[in-house]
Amino acid sequence: MCRCTIDAEYSKIEGMNPILYAIPVFLLTIAIECAWACKLRGNQTPQAGGGTRRLYDFADTIGSIQIGVLSRVAVAFPRLLTVGIFFLVQQQFAVATWDLQSPLHWLAALLIYDFFYYWKHRANHEVRLMWAGHITHHNSEYFNLSTALRQSSTTFIFDWMFYLPMAVMGVPVQMFVVVALIDLLYQFWVHTELLPKMGWFDRIFASPSNHRVHHGQDEYCVDKNYGGILIVWDRVFGTFEEERDQPIAYGVRTPLQSFNPLWGNFHYYALIWQDFRAARGWSAKIEALFAPPSGWQGEKLGSFDAASFKRHEVLVSPGIRRYVLVQHALNVVGVCVFLFFFKQWAPWQGGLAAAWMVCGLVATTALMEARRWGLWLEVGRWLTAPLLAIALWGLGAA
Ligand SMILES: [Zn+2]
Ligand SMILES: [Zn+2]
Repeated sequence: MCRCTIDAEYSKIEGMNPILYAIPVFLLTIAIECAWACKLRGNQTPQAGGGTRRLYDFADTIGSIQIGVLSRVAVAFPRLLTVGIFFLVQQQFAVATWDLQSPLHWLAALLIYDFFYYWKHRANHEVRLMWAGHITHHNSEYFNLSTALRQSSTTFIFDWMFYLPMAVMGVPVQMFVVVALIDLLYQFWVHTELLPKMGWFDRIFASPSNHRVHHGQDEYCVDKNYGGILIVWDRVFGTFEEERDQPIAYGVRTPLQSFNPLWGNFHYYALIWQDFRAARGWSAKIEALFAPPSGWQGEKLGSFDAASFKRHEVLVSPGIRRYVLVQHALNVVGVCVFLFFFKQWAPWQGGLAAAWMVCGLVATTALMEARRWGLWLEVGRWLTAPLLAIALWGLGAA
């Protein structure tokens, strides 16, 4: 199958750039939830051990959205490859024909996707090398709609393999991409503390209540409730846990303690690399890569005391806050421009634009953490902005 056929199929599917349209909806919904949290609850909710804690935090929210922006930039590059592999397998090995006009076939494809999503998500939690990517989504110690946008920039490395059985089943690539998008978009709304338990709904579908458990680091929460749309998979395979009547401490046992989006994506890989080098013998090295994070000899989870848990917080001065907010808005506009023009650019131009954007994301979060080098990075970035514009549009027009 020639590259141009894959390109044509891919363009047909993603020509509309659905994430571009979803971005303003996501941001508006986050703003509404934040206003709701502040107005109705004074931005406070009970915490373990008594007292209250904040529902929204400035630095955490900006950090989560910046990680989301980074993931959109990062996955733009390998997407053709991963969708292309699905397409090639589907073309060569499909055992059945699916009808794009049949609602039943679409529903079946969504259910099958959700089933494989469950196993992919479970592996993301239970294999260290995969957890290194997925941990990015779990690093926030808050739980609100902005947490949903904390998407990893590296999970694409393994994720596509879990869906290859769908290619062998003959699911057309258009159907696969659309149901994958539906599954992803569904999971946005379940990241909230504001919606209560929903009775029977919580036992059939992924919901705010059972996804709160998934993001908890309390003993009963770890490695539970993996379902994307249906939570039924967890009930069938023994990983379901109902939310208890006690405040949950969100986050992970190896806390990030940083808002840097690059470190947020790579800190656990760095830990694995250290462990891999220190491990004696190949079986220990293999274990350092593939053992479950919670069961690995070097990383026993131990007991967790929710009452003494302290979240990572930084004090951001009002002036920096205003500047970061403006830069953050520009970064969001920047990712929209990036996604819009990406396919028209040569690879080196896309790489240059991506590098410039990553510098912006790192600089704005460094400023929130009062790091001096963030200021120099920010100055350098804006000084080189005219050169970038010439490289992207000046040369292209020539
Ligand atoms: Zn997860
Ligand atoms: Zn989540």
